[in-house]
Amino acid sequence: MRLGRTLPPAASPISIKDILIGLRSISQGQKEIRNFESQLKEYYCVKHCFLLSSGKAALTIILKALHDLNPEKNEVLIPAYTCYSVPSAIVKAGLKVKLCDINPQTLDFDLDKLKNIVQTNCSENGRNSILSIIPTHLFGLPADVEKVRQISTGCQVSIIEDAAQAMGGTSKGRKFGTLGDVGFFSLGRGKAFSTVEGGIILTNNRIIADSIKKRMKSIPPYTIGEIGRLFVSSIILNVFLRPSFFWFPKGIPFLRLGETLYEPKFKIKKISSFQAGLARNWQKKLKKMISVRNKNIDFWNTFFIKNLSISSNFRATSTFLTAKKSLIRWPVIIERNKVLDQKIKIGDQLGLGIMRSYPNSINNIDQLKSQFEGLNFPAATYVAKQLFTLPVHNFVSRSDRLKILALFNK
Ligand SMILES: *Cc1c(COP(=O)(O)O)cnc(C)c1O
Repeated sequence: MRLGRTLPPAASPISIKDILIGLRSISQGQKEIRNFESQLKEYYCVKHCFLLSSGKAALTIILKALHDLNPEKNEVLIPAYTCYSVPSAIVKAGLKVKLCDINPQTLDFDLDKLKNIVQTNCSENGRNSILSIIPTHLFGLPADVEKVRQISTGCQVSIIEDAAQAMGGTSKGRKFGTLGDVGFFSLGRGKAFSTVEGGIILTNNRIIADSIKKRMKSIPPYTIGEIGRLFVSSIILNVFLRPSFFWFPKGIPFLRLGETLYEPKFKIKKISSFQAGLARNWQKKLKKMISVRNKNIDFWNTFFIKNLSISSNFRATSTFLTAKKSLIRWPVIIERNKVLDQKIKIGDQLGLGIMRSYPNSINNIDQLKSQFEGLNFPAATYVAKQLFTLPVHNFVSRSDRLKILALFNK
């Protein structure tokens, strides 16, 4: 176990000032929550906004609301490589996971395969069992939501934009979270902006919004005890996300940091005023974090573009193709061999925040495996093995960057 400076793979720090505002907001009741909601609506130019306890809670409510509108449809089409919370939410909503392989360059759907799946399922009168398709901006890389819309036109399929990792990002001047029929963000730790935990739903679609509203009526608030736990977590995050302390939680296997678990049993709550208070300065904070992350992204882009010509071991994701993107981690596909595996191990011993992401494609998750027998998702399987991310958050110092360069340059 390493004792000493260790970078987390991603970080959205929560300051003591944020925590104090959060505490003060507890006594304000609904006011702080309404305030956060109306700021989000204004910033994103949407008519409807709902705040929940996590991204997967948000997704579950969206799915249940859509299923209420289309009770005969029960399949949800997602990328075969994505966050395990996504199938967790689908199963929690009582629906069925359907997979489409990804494009390893963009980490978006393989759009040809998507088209095939949709066309095979969608008959002439638009009848099919697909309730929704979930294009996902993984790490903040843009997914082509417009293309998904083209592909599914006439099929009565709703598009849920998974912008869990992409709050504050844009594509062609349009804000992520507003490109689908309904979109959501996560406010969990390690996302673009964090309030310990939390989820945001955005939509301009009145029918979907009304259905979500009905579902929201039966969602309970946090209990006082749970708010106490959020408060303690915010203090822990304040301290232990710092590189000078992160070695401690990282070294304790019991905390399972960085592990990705498939867990379809989770609670769904309305967001608390403590969390809304933590988010009081979200626009300013998010903007600042994105600008720091973009500088680090530029740095990795420049280095790896230079190195791609030398080494065939680093394969571009679309990070390389456009300069400025608000990524929360910088993904690169590394053709693994003994030497590179050794380097990554050394990087881990040096605490450089170089990490693999989800350990498996969705079809290989133990609890789901049996549903996908006989089906292959080669790109997703490949990416799950070969994809690593470099840190881009504001704790990454010049000396960290140089150490990472030195590691791969040798
Ligand atoms: C984190 C994440 C979610 C779920 O968000 P939580 O707040 O962790 O529940 C959903 N989709 C993606 C792509 C994510 O990264």
